This record gives sequence, C-alpha cells and structure tokens, in this order.
Amino acid sequence: MAKLKSKPCDICSNLVNIRYRIQYTKQGDWVMVCPDCWEQVSKNNLYYRYGGTWKAKSRN
Ligand SMILES: [Zn+2]
Repeated sequence: MAKLKSKPCDICSNLVNIRYRIQYTKQGDWVMVCPDCWEQVSKNNLYYRYGGTWKAKSRN
C-alpha cells in the first residue's frame, strides 16, 4: 500500500488524506477541513462555500 502524505484539518487538526477547501464564516477565509468538520460546518450555514477537494498524493 502506498504511503500518503496526510495533512492537518484546519479545524480539528487531525491528519487526513482528503480535505475540502471551503469558506464557512462571514469573513470568508478559506480553510482546508476534513470530511467530518466539513459536514458539521456546512450544515445550515449561510456563509458556506465550496472551493475544491484536496487529496493526498502517494510518496515516490
Ligand atoms: Zn477536522
């Protein structure tokens, strides 16, 4: 199995292989969050905007 370069979620700091680039505050700062946090902050959120998905790449 290939090793993936995980990166920390901007909200919970867990190392994850998939992060979503989103805005979820009035200030509109872009953050990279894990699927769990994404589900929580995107719910009923007027400020939520989706900007793409980041996936870990295999190390060579
Ligand atoms: Zn998270």
